[in-house]
Amino acid sequence: MSQKEIEESLNLLQKDWDVDPILRQFMLGKITDVSDYSIKVKDVIFHIPYLASEKKYILWKCFWPDCHNCCDRQGRLPLTSDDLITIGKGLKYKKTSDFIKNETITTTWQDSSPSGQTTTMTTINLKRKKDETIQEDGTHISCRFLDEKGGCSMHPDRPGVCYLYPFSTWLENEKGMARVHATYQFTGDCPGFYLAEDMQQMKQELKDYSKIIYDYTLSSSRTMRENFGSVSFG
Ligand code: SF4
Ligand code: SF4
Repeated sequence: MSQKEIEESLNLLQKDWDVDPILRQFMLGKITDVSDYSIKVKDVIFHIPYLASEKKYILWKCFWPDCHNCCDRQGRLPLTSDDLITIGKGLKYKKTSDFIKNETITTTWQDSSPSGQTTTMTTINLKRKKDETIQEDGTHISCRFLDEKGGCSMHPDRPGVCYLYPFSTWLENEKGMARVHATYQFTGDCPGFYLAEDMQQMKQELKDYSKIIYDYTLSSSRTMRENFGSVSFG
């Protein structure tokens, strides 16, 4: 995401939510004295930004059901092979191939992963509106499964990627073992970030998200191995 897009998202977000001015500066890349605090929680290594000038960590909690901004401004919903089966069934498709044909769109897109690599991904994405086109991929569209009460009509069988936000994950080979890493993605759409001196405040979220992140990342990697998508590093 470009800085301009993040700024536009933040401006929209600030119409409804307070955003700490320091965090706004940080998300716009204007604070550079940032270190990476790594903490292992169960099977995931979380990378939490620490702002040296403030002596504070950037922590996060979700405001749902008061907030559903991520569903209102979803950029893309890549599906794992597990999602293809569960969501296809949930939408009453007998054959996964029919579900893929009618309800998804396959796109190729580039991403700068949190590990610093540029990746080119091809993914099968759930259409966020019935007639979504390839040109709309990556743009903000309110998801068709968001109901009037601000909930997800597919819950609990919503795409794995929806459970992940606002984290972003990657796999690293550690002495032959797959190690899952996670950090935040700062798109400017989530009001849940805050500054705090003590990491302990986010202990529960890290515990809860560790399993979600681990399962999703391995499922996503399996999806690529099963050729329901591809990833290349450049
Ligand atoms: S993850 Fe962020 S944007 Fe999504 S519902 Fe929670 S607080 Fe809102
Ligand atoms: S599928 Fe559900 S959780 Fe995911 S973006 Fe749509 S409404 Fe939100």
